[in-house]
Amino acid sequence: MSKGKIREEEIRRIIRADDEWEPVGPTPMPSLTDLRNWDFRLLDTYEPFYAPFCDLCCLCTFGKCDLTEDKKGACGIDIATQQARWILICSLMGTAAHGAHGRHMIDHLIEKYGEDFKIDLGSQVNVEAPIIRTVTGLKPKNLGDLRKAIEYVEREMIHLVSATHMGQEGNYRDFESKAFHAGTLDHVALEAADIAQIVGYGLPTSIADTPLVDLGWGAIDVKKPTIVVVGHNAITAYAIVDYLRQHDLYDKVEVAGLCCTAHDVTRYDSSAKIIGPLSRQRFFLKAGLADVVVTDEQCVITDIPQMASEAGAAMVACSDKISYGLEEVSAKPVDDILREMLENQKQFLILDSEKAAEVIVRAALALAPLRQERKKLMTKEEASLLSAKCRGTCETCNRACPNLLPVNLAINQARQGDFTKLGSVFLRCIGCAKCEEACVNNIPIQKVMQAAAASDTYKIRAGRGPIHDVEIRKVGSPIVLGTIPGVILFAGCSNFPGDIDDVAWLAEELARRKYIVNLSGCAAMAAAMRKDEDGKTIYEKYIPEFDAGCIVNVGSCISNAHVVGAAIKIANIFATLPNRANFELMADYIINRVGACGVVWGPYSQKALCIGTGAVRWGIPIVLGPHGSKYRRLFMSKKEASDWRVMDGRTKQRVDTQEPTPEHMMLVTETKERALVTIIKQCFRRNDTPPGRAIKLNSYISAYKQVMGSLPDDLQNFIRTEKEIPIVYKREVIAYLKEVGWKPKISLSLPTLIGTYETKVPIEATVK
Ligand code: SF4
Ligand code: SF4
Ligand code: SF4
Repeated sequence: MSKGKIREEEIRRIIRADDEWEPVGPTPMPSLTDLRNWDFRLLDTYEPFYAPFCDLCCLCTFGKCDLTEDKKGACGIDIATQQARWILICSLMGTAAHGAHGRHMIDHLIEKYGEDFKIDLGSQVNVEAPIIRTVTGLKPKNLGDLRKAIEYVEREMIHLVSATHMGQEGNYRDFESKAFHAGTLDHVALEAADIAQIVGYGLPTSIADTPLVDLGWGAIDVKKPTIVVVGHNAITAYAIVDYLRQHDLYDKVEVAGLCCTAHDVTRYDSSAKIIGPLSRQRFFLKAGLADVVVTDEQCVITDIPQMASEAGAAMVACSDKISYGLEEVSAKPVDDILREMLENQKQFLILDSEKAAEVIVRAALALAPLRQERKKLMTKEEASLLSAKCRGTCETCNRACPNLLPVNLAINQARQGDFTKLGSVFLRCIGCAKCEEACVNNIPIQKVMQAAAASDTYKIRAGRGPIHDVEIRKVGSPIVLGTIPGVILFAGCSNFPGDIDDVAWLAEELARRKYIVNLSGCAAMAAAMRKDEDGKTIYEKYIPEFDAGCIVNVGSCISNAHVVGAAIKIANIFATLPNRANFELMADYIINRVGACGVVWGPYSQKALCIGTGAVRWGIPIVLGPHGSKYRRLFMSKKEASDWRVMDGRTKQRVDTQEPTPEHMMLVTETKERALVTIIKQCFRRNDTPPGRAIKLNSYISAYKQVMGSLPDDLQNFIRTEKEIPIVYKREVIAYLKEVGWKPKISLSLPTLIGTYETKVPIEATVK
């Protein structure tokens, strides 16, 4: 179904097409199929690789259907298409989570300030919304415009959800194209949500060196009344800070957060604390250190009401997404709510953020003096007693542990008073409590960990928000030429396969090699959890500017938009290509010229899947940690069989470069060492100049030798001319290339996919 003239007119009106800041490109507010040819072009090179968990489909009552061995379901669907449908469903969950967050934030701020409230990101940011500009064609001026962006997301999502119904889409490539669309919508929502909160709450925007903030559960002064906010939508957390400020209570009450609400509340007030990522939720809440637990939305462990109740803490839910069956009491007087909470341990849902804030603060003040005993951590003696029944022989706990940790040995040794092993298990524990659920002797393993857990405190830089236009002007040329070897984004969750500080190791290895390293969400927190011999974290050691060898915390999950936005800005500001409603032009520029790579080392959420899928459509490859295989779909090239042809923008001839760059668009790596060399390799781009490629190869070879102990075994794929061989490795690389029969390859100065598939974008548009 084409858009139709009426819809086209409507879009032109919404995006104020007559505003002449740039001509409107070919795809304003794209519908489900407008970017389908681009998607298929990507899929021609990067075939989806499916690894189903389950060979059955149970989606409708026609089934369940066995889809093994080329069998089809009763509706005719095959297993690849069913997997791709599942990917779309999961991606839509992510888009919906971010979209609803954005909608809530924007509506809330419009209620407060009106829809004409201006978007002003400060003197360093003129291209305020690169994703929204590129996808929709709208240059948002105020909160009302951000609402239009969210309305576009909502409109498209209806069609995408519809496609997942039984008896709808029947082709895996089309499901993948729709998943890409969900990813694009997700990025629009991310950007709209973060811009709204930046302008509405005055979060940092035009500065790079944001304050250093305390992180770690040991950083919390639990002698004070302690409020812990959990989730991703900080509206109530901001209201709590406001209430404390208005009542001169800020230094008397501790506000700390878990997950992205922690990032955002510290962007609002840097004296708030970050406890840690999602993997620390259960551990911290079971320790009972919070007087009041506040939940908002996304990635919140669903048995928090029970945990709060067992710890004798008060608990308030603040989001209609997570209501826990609780009574909604926004209409009741605060004193009545408090009485019920304090006398009867009642938990409530309070959707009015200002009322919730008052209740939460007053409850914390009232409860803290009564809970001092409850806030004492378990002693080693108590932990040994709780472990008394363990002999370490049944190993049921180990079999349940997704990270294969030696829980049996750790608990058995704890029983005997030795907590060393349990301390190291804690560092690799993702807080899933599966061991505890499985334990045949009901040992409260997460509680016992209290006696072993290191309580160090760390410094993290508060999330800085957008990358500045001036920074882009400075790094644009070296990134595109390849002399800055890459832009890396560590995003997402804390389902880490190894030690929690592996992200810090990876980030530092890359920053040392002059990559521009950005972090967000739980990954940004984990990266703070390693100190050098001087006691400094990477946030204290490296510059916070978007430049070679930097470490940048962009902020919460929704701030991921700013790194994708930076890649677009390189095309738009540095290369002066028009981005308005010009998705393909921007994505083509990024995949061929901007050596960017996203990393989700601890993936679990559907949001991370969706962000990653969206990034792939922009031409940004994604490297996942081992748990990412459970997303069940990767985008891998088959070096010999895949289509590596591009157009030479100068001669307008189609050329087979035989160069697999980027090699894959979504893949899993098993170890941090393998991740390091893979991330480096994913930053190769066809446009790299010979000196730029030499710098990237130098990083690749040095890292490979460091962690694998040998030369990489695929150098022949990425060395195009002898000039690109790094001088320090020249002799051994030449010997290797001779051995494998390497031949020089073509190196293009204007490679583009435009022209290799059916598109409205003329090839001339790629040249400025
Ligand atoms: S959607 Fe198709 S494959 Fe799935 S259960 Fe229904 S009929 Fe079977
Ligand atoms: S809580 Fe930690 S130790 Fe227990 S199963 Fe989960 S990851 Fe393993
Ligand atoms: S399941 Fe429980 S009792 Fe068995 S080894 Fe693990 S901790 Fe010990």
